[in-house]
Amino acid sequence: TDDPPPAEDINPDDIFIAVKTTKKFHQSRLNLLLDTWISRNMRQTYIFTDGEDEELKKKIGSHAINTNCSAAHSRQALSCKMAVEYDKFIESGKKWFCHVDDDNYVNVRTLVKHLSQYPHTQDMYIGKPSLDRPIEATERLGDNKMKPVNFWFATGGAGFCVSRGLALKMSPWASGGHFMNTAEKIRLPDDCTIGYIIESVLGVPLTRSNLFHSHLENLQQVSRSEIYKQITLSYGMFENKSNIINLKGAFPVEEDPSRFKSVHCLLYPDTPWCPPQVAF
Ligand code: UDP
Ligand code: MN
Repeated sequence: TDDPPPAEDINPDDIFIAVKTTKKFHQSRLNLLLDTWISRNMRQTYIFTDGEDEELKKKIGSHAINTNCSAAHSRQALSCKMAVEYDKFIESGKKWFCHVDDDNYVNVRTLVKHLSQYPHTQDMYIGKPSLDRPIEATERLGDNKMKPVNFWFATGGAGFCVSRGLALKMSPWASGGHFMNTAEKIRLPDDCTIGYIIESVLGVPLTRSNLFHSHLENLQQVSRSEIYKQITLSYGMFENKSNIINLKGAFPVEEDPSRFKSVHCLLYPDTPWCPPQVAF
């Protein structure tokens, strides 16, 4: 289905794309992104990591942000990064906050078109739920009181976006040190905490989109002709098997195990390292 006419004429510079990474993945994951989709979108992409890397700074300058968060995979460390992403977005003045992981390919042209459907001043939370039902959590109130809460959240591994209008309303629970405190109140990961603040605290529902993809779904189901319509893609393991999109593209799987190089050549065929396209 085609998108309805735009509500607002936005361009890539109106979007703040936060990529979450960690020092040990700079070589194995981040470089692939820098060579592919980020290379076309340097101005709107910000990389949130946990260690200094001169090579990374040379490539993307001040858009490489050392959060000084711990490099552990703990709930606290991940919430610490999300808190910095949020604060930097607010500071940037941009219209849309989008978060992705370092195993996501972002098709920025489609992202811009998709977000254009909504005014950024409206309350918008867009992404793909990772569960088929709301998550059941327990909110820890003061004096040992607990309260059950149910809410939907967009899985961080597929990427999600929040309008500036909504992000500003999140501030009492998300800005400065508040995000970490909120995450501790429900003891859930960073992406769940975002869902908690938006759905449970503010009462704004998640807008579901099937155009965001994580490696928790079967990526074989994304077909070649549909790739250009997708907003995010991913790669990884699922039930012990490699989970990648099925694309006979510019590079064989051995040279391009994530398929991101092949996707990039499909979307940006004028890239110097892409093999020449056969013209008909
Ligand atoms: N990550 C991180 N610190 C860690 C491990 C992972 O910031 O110690 C980031 C990683 O770079 C990625 C996200 O967390 O952006 C998800 O990690 P991964 O894909 O390894 O795990 P998943 O949850 O998808 O199985
Ligand atoms: Mn992942």
